[in-house]
Amino acid sequence: MVSLLKVGIIGAGYVGLVTATCLAEIGNQVICSEKDKKRLSILKKGKCPIYEPGLEKLIEKNHETLNFTSETAELVDFADIIFICVGTPAKDDGKPDLSQVEGASREIAASLDDKYKLIVEKSTVPVRTYEWVKKTLNRYSDNPVNFDVASNPEFLREGSAIKDFMEPDRIVIGVETKKAEELLKRLYKPLTNKEIPLLVTDPATAEMIKHASNSFLAMKISYINMIADLCEKVGVDVDIVAKGMGYDHRIGKEFLRPGIGYGGSCFPKDVRAFIKIAEEYGIDFNILHETEKINNERRKNFIKKIEDVLWINKDKNIAIWGLSFKPGTDDIREAPSIDIVSNLLKSGVNLRLYDPEAMENFKKLYSENPNIKYFNDKYRALKDADALLILTEWEEFKNPDFKRMKKLMRLPIIIDGRNIFKPKEINGFEYYSIGRKPVKK
Ligand code: NAD
Repeated sequence: MVSLLKVGIIGAGYVGLVTATCLAEIGNQVICSEKDKKRLSILKKGKCPIYEPGLEKLIEKNHETLNFTSETAELVDFADIIFICVGTPAKDDGKPDLSQVEGASREIAASLDDKYKLIVEKSTVPVRTYEWVKKTLNRYSDNPVNFDVASNPEFLREGSAIKDFMEPDRIVIGVETKKAEELLKRLYKPLTNKEIPLLVTDPATAEMIKHASNSFLAMKISYINMIADLCEKVGVDVDIVAKGMGYDHRIGKEFLRPGIGYGGSCFPKDVRAFIKIAEEYGIDFNILHETEKINNERRKNFIKKIEDVLWINKDKNIAIWGLSFKPGTDDIREAPSIDIVSNLLKSGVNLRLYDPEAMENFKKLYSENPNIKYFNDKYRALKDADALLILTEWEEFKNPDFKRMKKLMRLPIIIDGRNIFKPKEINGFEYYSIGRKPVKK
């Protein structure tokens, strides 16, 4: 493949590493910088420090054009286009912590000179952050500088990140100059076609599109969760209601899955950030306050459901399938499992946990707790369990050997936070799910 551009990626997290690898895959020469020494040393060995399906293979495949460094200066010297892909976690007050973006900007500034560079924000940031990035680049550079700043928000989802990057619903580029527009169009040319629109805006609009999209999706999840609560009260199956709604193209079937709520490193913090951004401009984004409130209550409602089923939690053996915030990832940031596990531990239960990919991350939070046991096999986690909780809808949970499960468990009780089974298909179990009639023996 012909090499197209020299690209630098700052931050080898879920977004940076996928972006770096996919841009190498479509023919660019890429250098990716990472501050975390452990993460960097894994990458330098050609391995992948995070679980994302297909990523390690793609890193290996592109090893000749994909390099890793700890030095921002080396990256700036090499690249024509530099993507800032660092974290923007929430602060305690809900505002995003932009110190990694500021830090990366300062490091870039220190190496800038009069050779043109395009600096692109890919991290999710509040509208008008690009102005601060520009100001920082100017302030912290000793030399006469020659650069543009653009915004190119990322919409990939963990678990399907490579496909999402390679076949996105849209690419948004927010630019101030023709030169920046042309460079980004050239970079994305191999991905864009009639089906994948490339929307060119100014940087502020591009920044806004990202927060507006994520907040809308979170709102859709909270909406269907409220419908689920109502369905449960009136004895209607929410999954059929969602199906009926989803056929309407104006609504769409995606993100109409009821459950224990959204988690992860994006929706919770992006909703909070968007509320704060609106607040700064004197706008009360009421609907998002409610979205967040409903989402937080999902976890509490699920705990209540467990208590309603088990009566007393103390000394019960509870098995849990699924810890990651969604299937296909090892990421547990703001996962519902964390709140649910913490809460159950307070009531004196013994937990038997299984997740195909996220257990190592979970152990970092609860390594020493004598009331938690981890299992490498989902069936072993069920031994003598008084109930099984399903917290993540991994594919491997969807067609289990129910007979084997029943033999292993002390009581055949399943409390499913993700509606992975059809109530009609459950035999010999008490089965409780979200927004549907329970199946009782
Ligand atoms: P992450 O925390 O997994 O990765 C960020 C990485 O940047 C870390 O490894 C950190 O060590 C590194 N880093 C920070 N400062 C650095 C510096 N100066 N030089 C080199 N490395 C540095 O974060 P993420 O999940 O990849 O998210 C990154 C951004 O993308 C966030 O703004 C997030 O909101 C947004 N986003 C995330 C997703 C997702 O699914 N994770 C999807 C779309 C957008």
